[in-house]
Amino acid sequence: MSAPITIVGAGLAGALLATLLARRGLNVAVIERRADPRRVGYQGGRSINLALAERGLHGLRLAGLEANVMAQAVMMRGRMIHELGADPYLQRYGRDDSEVIWSVGRGQLNLSLIEAAEAAGAQITFDAALVAVDWRQQRYRCQGSDGVIREQEFHTLIGADGAGSALRAAMQIERPNPEHFEPLGHGYKELAIPATAAGGFQIDGNALHIWPRGGYMLIALPNVDGSFTVTLFLPNSGAVSFEQLWHPMAVQAFFAQQFPDALPSLANLVADFTGHPVGMLGTLRLQNWHLDGRALLLGDAAHALVPFHGQGMNCAFEDCVALDALFSESTDLPAVYAEFQARRQPNAEAIADMALENYVEMRDAVADAHFHFIKQLERQLAERHPGRFVPRYSMISFRRVPYAEAQARGAIQANLMEQLGAGKQRLDQIDMTLADRLIEDRLAPL
Ligand SMILES: Cc1cc2nc3c(=O)[nH]c(=O)nc-3n(C[C@H](O)[C@H](O)[C@H](O)COP(=O)(O)OP(=O)(O)OC[C@H]3O[C@@H](n4cnc5c(N)ncnc54)[C@H](O)[C@@H]3O)c2cc1C
Repeated sequence: MSAPITIVGAGLAGALLATLLARRGLNVAVIERRADPRRVGYQGGRSINLALAERGLHGLRLAGLEANVMAQAVMMRGRMIHELGADPYLQRYGRDDSEVIWSVGRGQLNLSLIEAAEAAGAQITFDAALVAVDWRQQRYRCQGSDGVIREQEFHTLIGADGAGSALRAAMQIERPNPEHFEPLGHGYKELAIPATAAGGFQIDGNALHIWPRGGYMLIALPNVDGSFTVTLFLPNSGAVSFEQLWHPMAVQAFFAQQFPDALPSLANLVADFTGHPVGMLGTLRLQNWHLDGRALLLGDAAHALVPFHGQGMNCAFEDCVALDALFSESTDLPAVYAEFQARRQPNAEAIADMALENYVEMRDAVADAHFHFIKQLERQLAERHPGRFVPRYSMISFRRVPYAEAQARGAIQANLMEQLGAGKQRLDQIDMTLADRLIEDRLAPL
């Protein structure tokens, strides 16, 4: 049997990576801070449901889990925009129902991944939080909820232990590593729209609902049981902020004024609002993702991003696929880890930037007339040049074009559309001959 690979964290990325590597015949051990969810139920954590797109689905497919996960997924065709005082309308994500994203419950998804990892031969130890690493002796320490600390030898450690990674902190002690966390200044709070008495959806069940309000927004993603997980994204401080919403009456008044059509469905608004914490959001940029062949970070542990493109998990799954592919070529750990960073870091940086941009688009531009015109133009150009002009959202969500390439092509396309659309309001005013020429000149076939 090969020398063991110890993965820290059996969350989304850790459990998928364990499955892929164990299926490859590698010797995989996993330590997870939380108790076994099959024994105690899923213990909360971040966001209750998630948007799953093609990159994530690809990883699940390789792990043999696509059918299992899709059986628990709800299709989201596009954004259902709720402007203040207007009827909601759907902005499709893609051409038709072949280009959609999926809402999946984190708890069930994590459970399926854990079961797949064990079935593939990975050994998972629950209730074991990494607390320290002795790099010289190649030993790590972990602690259970009983407070007892256990020591274990390791050959190599892979940190899939999330944004607050303990392995990242331990690597910092061994070799200082420039690390920059940019807080967004906005936080989030999770609320809920329950299912109807008959178990159906209170609002359209096949959309990601958005109530864009300029500096902030409310969103809702459907769950298979007919409920919605609702998230309020708001500045932490300032005139309209979480800081101001400290009293139940202020919360009720804020929702009545800003989200009047959502309010009747938010059955437990005040209890949810006062009972749930404000989650922190930010972008982590880390210079080195590995320590020779001794340790590597991936997923949120290496590159936490803001959730506005619904890509954190998708990107983490893509990391797992990339690392698994490298292990198929070589087991020279320092070389594999260096190559992993070289391939993935520029892409992680690109999606982190695009996720930040998307917050502005979602909370603001989705309700703007020029934005709608540019979106129409984008659709038209995509129809005329399907192999060349692919909307950036589609490159990110429906294809596996490397994020950095999607970002670069997206910038060319945005430029081109601004040039063509300047001073215009309608598609029949666009010079399509010029458009065709610019596209052929500036965009290589994808
Ligand atoms: C509000 C919100 C909405 C989001 N929506 C989406 C979305 O729609 N689509 C999407 O793709 N992404 C989304 N994301 C991002 C997504 O949640 C993360 O990118 C994803 O969870 C990263 O997976 P991970 O396995 O790297 O980390 P995590 O999911 O954080 O898993 C880390 C695991 O490590 C364990 N652990 C932590 N510390 C230790 C330790 N010391 N020892 C052992 N184990 C440890 C944890 O218990 C956990 O199981 C969202 C994030 C937020 C905050």
